[in-house]
Amino acid sequence: MIGNPLSAEEESVIRTEWAAGTSMQDIADRVGRTKNSVSGHIHRMGLPARPSPIRTSSAPRATTRKPLPVQFIGEAISPPTHFAPIAAGKCQWLEGRPRDLNFCHAPTVPGRSWCCAHLARVYVQSVPKGADLAA
Ligand SMILES: [Zn+2]
Repeated sequence: MIGNPLSAEEESVIRTEWAAGTSMQDIADRVGRTKNSVSGHIHRMGLPARPSPIRTSSAPRATTRKPLPVQFIGEAISPPTHFAPIAAGKCQWLEGRPRDLNFCHAPTVPGRSWCCAHLARVYVQSVPKGADLAA
């Protein structure tokens, strides 16, 4: 025998609820057992399998949403070709909008590619898991 045997009343509840399509969890709650226990009893009682609620069809779901029309409302932006040459020790942070994009050129933090301000934006100090931030 596996696990605790069912009482006649529990077996009756499981048969009735299973046939009615009640979820395994709800049946388990009803008889005060775990979902796995109820699953095992249903299997051993030889109750017929129910169709899986999980969709197995690989066909794409029908959608009622039509794709939005695409309308280009801007002008084409070509990549900037006006970068001032970047000197060693100058910040490589790109600033500006695509039309006037350029490097920051501020002095870098030694050994890094960015100035202090941009380095702070690139690296975020990690907080140990569970750390008390209010302290
Ligand atoms: Zn910078």
